[in-house]
Amino acid sequence: MSTVCRVEPDALLDGLNTAQRLAVTSSTSPLCILAGAGSGKTRVLTHRIAYRAATGDLDPRHVLALTFTRKAAGELTARLRSLGLREHVAAGTFHSVAYAQLRTRWAERNITPPQLMTRKAGFVIGLLTGAEKSTPGIDFVAEIEWAKARMVEPEAYPEAAKTAGRKPPISYEATAAVYARYEDQRRQKRLIDFDDMLRVCHRDLISDTAFADSQRWRFSHLFVDEFQDVNPLQHALLEAWRGDRTDLCIVGDPNQAIYSWNGADPELLLSFATRFPEGETIRLLDNYRSSPQILAAANALLVGGRGVDHNGTQSATRPDGSVPSVRELPEERAEAAAIARAARDRHGPGALWAHQAVLVRTNAQLPIIEEAMKSAGIPFRVRGATPLLDQPEIKAALGDLRRTPRPFSDAIHDLALSVVIDDDSESDRAAERRANLDALVQMARDYMAIESPPTANGFFLWLTATTRADQPDPNGDAVELLTFHAAKGLEWPIVHLAGLEQGYVPIGHAKTPGAWAEERRLFYVAATRAERELLCTWAKSRTFGERPIPRERSEFLDTFAAACEALEAGLDPVAVGNGATVPTRSSGSPTKSSKPKPKSPKGPRQRPGKYPDSLDSSDHALFDALRQWRSDRSKSADVPAFVVCNDHTLAEIARHKPTTPVELLRVNGMGEIKVSKFGDEILAVITETLDA
Ligand code: ATP
Ligand code: MG
Repeated sequence: MSTVCRVEPDALLDGLNTAQRLAVTSSTSPLCILAGAGSGKTRVLTHRIAYRAATGDLDPRHVLALTFTRKAAGELTARLRSLGLREHVAAGTFHSVAYAQLRTRWAERNITPPQLMTRKAGFVIGLLTGAEKSTPGIDFVAEIEWAKARMVEPEAYPEAAKTAGRKPPISYEATAAVYARYEDQRRQKRLIDFDDMLRVCHRDLISDTAFADSQRWRFSHLFVDEFQDVNPLQHALLEAWRGDRTDLCIVGDPNQAIYSWNGADPELLLSFATRFPEGETIRLLDNYRSSPQILAAANALLVGGRGVDHNGTQSATRPDGSVPSVRELPEERAEAAAIARAARDRHGPGALWAHQAVLVRTNAQLPIIEEAMKSAGIPFRVRGATPLLDQPEIKAALGDLRRTPRPFSDAIHDLALSVVIDDDSESDRAAERRANLDALVQMARDYMAIESPPTANGFFLWLTATTRADQPDPNGDAVELLTFHAAKGLEWPIVHLAGLEQGYVPIGHAKTPGAWAEERRLFYVAATRAERELLCTWAKSRTFGERPIPRERSEFLDTFAAACEALEAGLDPVAVGNGATVPTRSSGSPTKSSKPKPKSPKGPRQRPGKYPDSLDSSDHALFDALRQWRSDRSKSADVPAFVVCNDHTLAEIARHKPTTPVELLRVNGMGEIKVSKFGDEILAVITETLDA
């Protein structure tokens, strides 16, 4: 065994809590660490590698640590080095490791490597015929990528896609035909795409024992961070790397599963105990990242949305901080300017720009924030996003603008009209494409305001200068601007969440209960990035295409803002969400730092009468009918009534009168489990009462 790590093992346990120590030192394998945001999962993963190396239990040269971004892989390596590991630990994404192994294999066997397909959308467009041509290639790409991530072959696509509630751009069968053509042509041309790297590596490991043996020897100890976002193809590859050995440690949080739309399957994490009865699952219950106030407000999102927490309730360990704020601004430029001002107010000696991040739901929201930062002279860095100008639809639109003989302003006017904001968009990508084009139109307006006459070439130069030229030094001190998705696993002392409006949070095309619940988790991921301060904003109006469109506050803010109000009043937000008024031990919920606050008279009041105050008298009959149903239901199931649904939830149902399971899921207090268990009955009670 290795002697390369010269750190005292016990020193690696300093500063860890009991559960974390257990997770670091446990000799059980496979091991699963299941815990909420900021509980130290990534910290435990790195400490476990370092500890096992220090005790001689593993040779770090035989460790493979898998994460989801190159940046995260780099951070893992840096953290391991800071823990005293001198040997280089292989840390990478599934793709980078698979591709490296394949390249070695091809070189050893003198196989000419297939070419890597870099322009997938262009390739697909070349395959489209007839009516298919009116659909952008990128929409098919989204479906092909999803199918490949789920290991679904073209012939199985229609069935699988229907079951998963996918919304392909054309019929299921016709999409499957495009997918089949894609695979056919790709093979004939000896091309592989990114997903094929995983598929081919998996296939070769299964079919070639010598290759499998060498890779399993090379990487005998497997560690995976963010396991909730693993897809079936990645999982199959992981299993092929593992073979019949058990040295596997996975780390994840089902409440942070945000890639199901892309084919990820959080069940792979949740079913760990069933798949490995000999394994051990450890839960970490202390939160080390966020103030009690931020943690309580973020947790209210989960409690309100799911009614179930896979991880158990987290306790805050950080000192009290300010209650998260929610601010409404008249329109998007005012919002961006307000964020810039707030960022400036929080910058000063000892308070770096890099202590702050602005998080948004879509890439297209970033340019306006960048503009505001520039105007305020605040250095910023855009992380993880494909720059707007590199997006295929933007490149195509700019090409068209340069070719058209018409005046520039007319061409922009037409482009604006073609960007129809339609919430029933067919796919995520279609909506993103429209949003990107819209951002381009807004920038064209800014450009037209300063140049007369405006020209396509002039616009192109202006764009290049605006979006690229004054990008700050990539390593300098700067506020980070990024999407919710790109912020996964990261943390900052101060976080600004912008654009918390219906249509963004949740995104307009989240129509199924599953998609909607994923949006809610995404908001939770974003909120839990903050350590000390969380500032939320939304704009009452936003310009899309030609006109300003009125916007509504994100429905997720209902539970969140209620929790914040409760915190301000010194009440327990979770209990308030359940219709009760329970003072907290301190201003946060539940927390170890106890600094009691006086109970404010502003807090939600205990209702005096039979009906909640929030209920209009015209809804009393429905509320009574729902209570009757609950009483019957709790008797037949032999459980207390509140286990079925509390009064607060029934009142919310009576107020909103949902007619579909998705609408029911949107009611505060209703989670997926409750909807699947009682949804049909509740909807029937509503229909019967309202029809009577
Ligand atoms: P996420 O789910 O968001 O990825 P995580 O569970 O991986 O979060 P980490 O990033 O490992 O959490 O830890 C969150 C923060 O808390 C980090 O700054 C980490 O250094 C710190 N931390 C974790 N455990 C402890 C501890 N026992 N004492 C002090 N700080 C800790
Ligand atoms: Mg982490």
